Amino acid sequence: MRRYSAFAIAREAARYHSGWERAWASPDPKKKYDVIIIGAGGHGLATAYYLGKNHGITNVAIIEKGWLGGGNTGRNTTIIRSNYLQDPSAAIYEKARSLYETMSQDLNFNVMFSPRGVMMLAQTQHEVRGYERTAHANALQGVTTEFISPTRVKELVPIINLDGPRYPVLGALWQARAGTARHDAVAWGYARACSDMGMDVIQKCEVTGVRNEGGKVVGVTTTKGQIDCDKLGIVVAGHCGDLAGQAGFRLPVESVPLQALVSEPIKPCMDVVVMANTVHGYMSQSDKGEMVIGGGTDGHNGFTQRGSFHHIEETVRALVETFPMIARLKMLRQWGGIVDVTGDRSPILSKTPVESIFINCGWGTGGFKSIPGSGFGFAELMATGYSPLTEAFNLDRFKEGRFIDESVAAGVAH
Ligand SMILES: Cc1cc2nc3c(=O)[nH]c(=O)nc-3n(C[C@H](O)[C@H](O)[C@H](O)COP(=O)(O)OP(=O)(O)OC[C@H]3O[C@@H](n4cnc5c(N)ncnc54)[C@H](O)[C@@H]3O)c2cc1C
Repeated sequence: MRRYSAFAIAREAARYHSGWERAWASPDPKKKYDVIIIGAGGHGLATAYYLGKNHGITNVAIIEKGWLGGGNTGRNTTIIRSNYLQDPSAAIYEKARSLYETMSQDLNFNVMFSPRGVMMLAQTQHEVRGYERTAHANALQGVTTEFISPTRVKELVPIINLDGPRYPVLGALWQARAGTARHDAVAWGYARACSDMGMDVIQKCEVTGVRNEGGKVVGVTTTKGQIDCDKLGIVVAGHCGDLAGQAGFRLPVESVPLQALVSEPIKPCMDVVVMANTVHGYMSQSDKGEMVIGGGTDGHNGFTQRGSFHHIEETVRALVETFPMIARLKMLRQWGGIVDVTGDRSPILSKTPVESIFINCGWGTGGFKSIPGSGFGFAELMATGYSPLTEAFNLDRFKEGRFIDESVAAGVAH
């Protein structure tokens, strides 16, 4: 595959852009693969990428029922941070954040990583103590964060109202090298790299059954026929319960809609990401100028990928206290995704009761940020049977009570 470069752009400009190749192939499935990954979201694609790059396994198919990146990966608000409380979380999220720093160069695809800084506002004394604790934990974990004063918050975000009617801003947990990236570019970049390694990205192909013989996986049934494999990775976010059911085991996961919305584009007014977890809302400004706004999950389980009016009202009402200027903005569009939430708000990256089936799910409201770290670790687990990055996130923790409690970090804080 031809590399993208300044020279390539100049060359194509001179010949009316007639020479660009398709970024990835769209092959029919083969009869058998060494590895099948179900789900061409960020986590599935990153897993395939690292299987090839780090472990030399390239006879791989990534099977997607819709279009690649069309699930949560293309629907999220793109916040990337690694300021989690527990050690296993900090390790995998910081690995991911550091891989985002060089992702555009590694994939030769501009994913527009923007380390503009993320702040999580402390608006109650309880939150002040919680975030100070997280900053101390992060210092021990090698994750650079700090607790900053209201004055510093105002310097970084001039449009903020520090003295809200219900909750004043008492400070914030600040991670300067956190930020955002272009979500679908992440999926496209990985898909292009996987295709370049000879892997098959098969879209519009739904997995409808998982076949096993004698307790070991042998393949899947799909809308494009039966496909055999030696190993299977299930990486389907909100649909993981369904796929696990097909494979013959259960997961401690709930599927819940999560919504977001964007305003009309306006001139640059905020160049950091702000999360206000007490009032339940967060906001950043996209490169196009839209204010990207999100809140908490819907209060019920479901599989809808739509927005609803009550969500706009609740989220904007909360944010208006902290950002009075958004009261005058028109909202442009909203949407929803189906997030997969576990009891301890931490993901599952694990072997399963069926031999050679591996599961990667439970990223809930915050799995965009972890895509490269998750792919790195999950590929290692699938290739070798063990990864230090994923070990603590195995399924057995729910039986053994070894929870990785990130309920504060993952409640509304994406
Ligand atoms: C509104 C919203 C805002 C969010 N904001 C953030 C944020 O700011 N920061 C952050 O870190 N995270 C955020 N998240 C969470 C993040 O988007 C997800 O955790 C992450 O994208 C999950 O990636 P994935 O690859 O596991 O799943 P997905 O991207 O959903 O990919 C799974 C794929 O599996 C496919 N699939 C399902 N069933 C089948 C089948 N039977 N056969 C074949 N294919 C199948 C689906 O079509 C889908 O494409 C947000 C999510 C939403 C919805």
